[in-house]
Amino acid sequence: MNVTSMISPEMPVTGSAIEPVFARQQARAIQLRTSTADERIARLRKLQASIEAHRPAIYKALAADLHRAEAEADLAEVLPMISEIKHACSHLKSWMKPTRVGGTMAMLGTFAHVRYEPKGVSLIISPWNYPFGLTFGPLASAIAAGCTAIVKPSEMTPASSAVIAEIIRTTFDPADVAVFEGDASVATSLLDLPFDHMFFTGSPAVGKIVMAAAAKHLSSVTLELGGKSPAIIDETADLDRAVKSLMFGKFCNNGQTCIAPDYLYVQQSVLPAFLDKAKAAITKMYGTDAAASPDLTRIVNGRHYDRVKRLLDDAQAKGANIVTGGTSNPADKYIAPTLLTNVAEDSAVMEEEIFGPLLPIISYNDVAGPIAAINAKPKPLALYMYSKDSQRTDRVIAETSSGGTCVNTSVVHFLHQNLPFGGVNNSGIGNAHGLYGFKAFSHERAVLRDRFSSTSMLFPPYTNRVKQLIKLTIKFFS
Ligand code: NAD
Repeated sequence: MNVTSMISPEMPVTGSAIEPVFARQQARAIQLRTSTADERIARLRKLQASIEAHRPAIYKALAADLHRAEAEADLAEVLPMISEIKHACSHLKSWMKPTRVGGTMAMLGTFAHVRYEPKGVSLIISPWNYPFGLTFGPLASAIAAGCTAIVKPSEMTPASSAVIAEIIRTTFDPADVAVFEGDASVATSLLDLPFDHMFFTGSPAVGKIVMAAAAKHLSSVTLELGGKSPAIIDETADLDRAVKSLMFGKFCNNGQTCIAPDYLYVQQSVLPAFLDKAKAAITKMYGTDAAASPDLTRIVNGRHYDRVKRLLDDAQAKGANIVTGGTSNPADKYIAPTLLTNVAEDSAVMEEEIFGPLLPIISYNDVAGPIAAINAKPKPLALYMYSKDSQRTDRVIAETSSGGTCVNTSVVHFLHQNLPFGGVNNSGIGNAHGLYGFKAFSHERAVLRDRFSSTSMLFPPYTNRVKQLIKLTIKFFS
């Protein structure tokens, strides 16, 4: 039977449907070990061409799944995908070059280098919030590294999942890249298999399930997770720029962004001015009635609408003030961009990742307060600092930990291909993007060639002369 027919969309996906594809990929992965940069670039270019050809379908799917505007689809999905692919094509030859490492005294007479070899068969499980970018970005890295890949898009955005599947099925032989659509049960069947690398993007809770499954086969993992990313504004900050960047970072995709500013500390002396400017910025972006704006994405589904609404209701019940927003419409999965002040520390909105259009704002006098509060929570995916005081900025960076940090801007570090993109502990393990994505799917293999080393002089039998030599060697290095 032909494998393409085995994975036709009509068939329910079970372990027995996946296993023949996995077996073909294992055989193909061995062939791909010797693939050249040109061959991998050809596959990347094919992927880029297919994405370009499917752009109208991508816009349509994102509008159906998320009510996303075409401009936001271009900015937040098409641009990152295309730039990731182009960056890999431009740099792959130099990334693949074995790296010579310097000699050491003990290894005199040897030559050593590090080879980047493809890990083999990889699994890519992606989330719904940027369904295309967070599927094809990692896939570009897997192809650049010379891996095969099985892709499982999110079931929460079904129209996007269908277009992703079509792009993959019409572009690749399933022995190279295959796709299985479906929910957690499909992911569970996939996670049973001995993948060489698992690249997961999603929540910390499911990240733990993926890591536990990977442990069974000692598969390596990249976990791109989420969490609560804080932002701090101090009194020296350029408020106009800070507000513009924060309101975009927060309300792009209606707050459903892993690196969206989750909660915000504003120095007391500039709080009134900040709130005025923030309200004006929201009106400028989405008009006086944000529900009527064509540019505001909606909450993905009823379950997430209920979750965000519960966070809002709980905050209000515990005394939070609504500075702007607060209105909602379940039929439209709409919650207005909302700024909250006077938020109780024990409200759910300060404890759970918000992943929606609510921004709790807390005032402070001394930056030691925000630093201590941030350090009391799990390490975030991003931390944003708005200040002209470089000493205070350096202090915040030095005394906290986060996957990435922007100073005087937010979220755009995602677009910088020369920076690693990833979390730390609860917000993730490992990195994506550019060279870091290539390395995630590559094994750094140590290769040592012996030309005329004298290490054999230290081998048994341990005669008095050999023992003396070993002691002398230790003395030499002490
Ligand atoms: P999720 O963890 O619910 O789902 C992600 C993927 O895992 C989906 O494909 C889903 O089908 C699958 N899945 C769900 N339950 C599973 C299970 N029990 N076993 C195996 N697989 C399972 O996440 P989500 O709701 O799609 O996305 C939101 C989360 O992702 C947020 O926490 C957000 O911060 C995070 N995120 C992180 C990044 C990043 O780059 N670090 C990017 C986007 C989203």
